[in-house]
Amino acid sequence: MLNRILIDPQAFAAQAETINGTVSLQHLDKRIWSPDIADLSSELHYTLRGGTDRWQRPFLDLAVSGSLKLHCQRCMQPSDFPLDEQVRIVLFANEEKLDEAMLADEELEGMLLCPELDALSLVEDQILMALPISPKHDDCGNRKLDAVNQDKPNPFSVLAGLKKG
Ligand SMILES: [Zn+2]
Repeated sequence: MLNRILIDPQAFAAQAETINGTVSLQHLDKRIWSPDIADLSSELHYTLRGGTDRWQRPFLDLAVSGSLKLHCQRCMQPSDFPLDEQVRIVLFANEEKLDEAMLADEELEGMLLCPELDALSLVEDQILMALPISPKHDDCGNRKLDAVNQDKPNPFSVLAGLKKG
């Protein structure tokens, strides 16, 4: 069953509210269930904090952390992927203000105000952005696989080339 946490973003920011919790991937929307994920029971911790910045704009600060298990694209065994993401989402009353602010600041994460927002959909967006395109172990711990790996030149053939030169 999906967990949903509905907030009124404007009130949440104005009252500087905070919510936090732990959610398992299997209780999030299926759009984040990448085939790379080896274990859907992995849990992530999130904190959502509202506030108002120095330009009097309401914002939501989101932090998502934990560890996922992803299939290594080299050896297909699970690989630990630590996740520690923080983002500030600034809320705007209309599209013109949002566009103007995005043009002025390329780094800005902006969003239009809406009467109701699912906090966990923000968590899902954050996970989607953090997932690597091609997860791999730093070292698969399997020499046989390294030998057939064509990505890197074989050190012995490099040495042989040096000797010839
Ligand atoms: Zn591997």
